[in-house]
Amino acid sequence: MDFRLTPEAQEFYDEVCAFFDEHLDAETIAREERTGDGFDRAFHEALAERGWVAADWPKKFGGQERDAHEMYVLDQEFLRRGCPRNTSVTTGLVGNTLRVVGTERQKRELLPGIASGRIVISLGYSEPQAGSDVAAAQTRARREGDHWRIDGQKMFTTGAHLTDYIFLLARSDASGGKRDGLTMFLVPTDSEGFEAQAVPTLGGERTNLSFYSGVRVPDWLRVGEVDGGWDVMKVALSLEQGVGFSGSAETLHRRALEWAERAGRLDDPLVRERLARTALNAEVGKLLEQRAVWMTAEGRPMRAEGPMCKLFTSEALIEDAGSLLDMLGPDALESGGGPTSPAAAAVEFFQRYAQGTAIYAGTSEIMRSLIAEQGLGLPRSRSG
Ligand SMILES: Cc1cc2nc3c(=O)[nH]c(=O)nc-3n(C[C@H](O)[C@H](O)[C@H](O)COP(=O)(O)OP(=O)(O)OC[C@H]3O[C@@H](n4cnc5c(N)ncnc54)[C@H](O)[C@@H]3O)c2cc1C
Repeated sequence: MDFRLTPEAQEFYDEVCAFFDEHLDAETIAREERTGDGFDRAFHEALAERGWVAADWPKKFGGQERDAHEMYVLDQEFLRRGCPRNTSVTTGLVGNTLRVVGTERQKRELLPGIASGRIVISLGYSEPQAGSDVAAAQTRARREGDHWRIDGQKMFTTGAHLTDYIFLLARSDASGGKRDGLTMFLVPTDSEGFEAQAVPTLGGERTNLSFYSGVRVPDWLRVGEVDGGWDVMKVALSLEQGVGFSGSAETLHRRALEWAERAGRLDDPLVRERLARTALNAEVGKLLEQRAVWMTAEGRPMRAEGPMCKLFTSEALIEDAGSLLDMLGPDALESGGGPTSPAAAAVEFFQRYAQGTAIYAGTSEIMRSLIAEQGLGLPRSRSG
């Protein structure tokens, strides 16, 4: 395969860099560091104005029909710059799912709002007792005429305090197998009975507990068939495949190098070795990601390639951030505004941020199982 950017993607990359230079200011980054919101309304609206919230969508839905290479360029720049992006990612994912399984009304009323930046959406899959085993969800959905009544609790509903809808997995029938009685909904967050409570995380990201007490959802906001929620989840989960963190690894390496230069430690062979290993892992991660992007662009079916990106880049980020933090020694605790402190603080931040990358969008153990099953053809190890 050809690992170079296509000429179109290279041109797009230059446009994307200029856009980030113009719209991502230090204040936005500082606000994100303070709140961990993963979303900045003004930046999101500027992105929408350029047509890049749903840049890969057909023009009739407000997109620009950008290909997989161009989408990778945009995604990587978000990571490299540390730009708030969680809610952009979840919104895009739900929009893409609606494009596949949504009704005509949902496409007509929701997709233009997503592409124009007016509508943002969180994922409400996980529950206190259903994370990796997401099909064990217990949040209940009961039909009442032309509405549904939702009761229950979700865990880790990132962005729920800011978004317009929760893309919710609920149990509509508890009498059969656990994947049989599930139904998906878009729950408006301004509904009576909905509440989001903050959950701060080690990585600085704010996520939420979300509560549903007799929330009424009109039937037109049901996504997919009644009791057919698992089919919708399969589409949504397949779209999450191929996430990688090589952009974060590049930034970690750059900041650690900056520290070594300022601290006068570049001649130290132990420092050089750790920096080299981080650069190497960032490069390997990027190549794995580019392979997945290339396969998507070529329309080739992905088997283990997506989970390989997620597994390698998250585990390498955790290992490298830990190793670089050790290298910094007491400098990692320095917060007095000395010459090395901004770079040292960045490395310290990455050590915390990295931990979550091996959990959300599927843990490392689940990625290993997928590689074993889909890539190596080994028997399924999980029950249910
Ligand atoms: C910062 C953050 C943001 C998140 N954002 C969202 C969000 O927006 N929406 C949402 O719905 N969810 C979100 N999640 C939830 C995330 O998807 C789950 O945390 C994840 O799926 C793991 O589920 P769990 O936490 O219940 O752990 P569990 O599934 O209970 O796993 C506990 C441990 O057991 C291991 N394990 C579990 N099952 C198996 C198995 N079959 N084989 C081998 N090992 C196994 C896991 O790998 C893990 O090490 C977020 C999580 C975090 C940390």
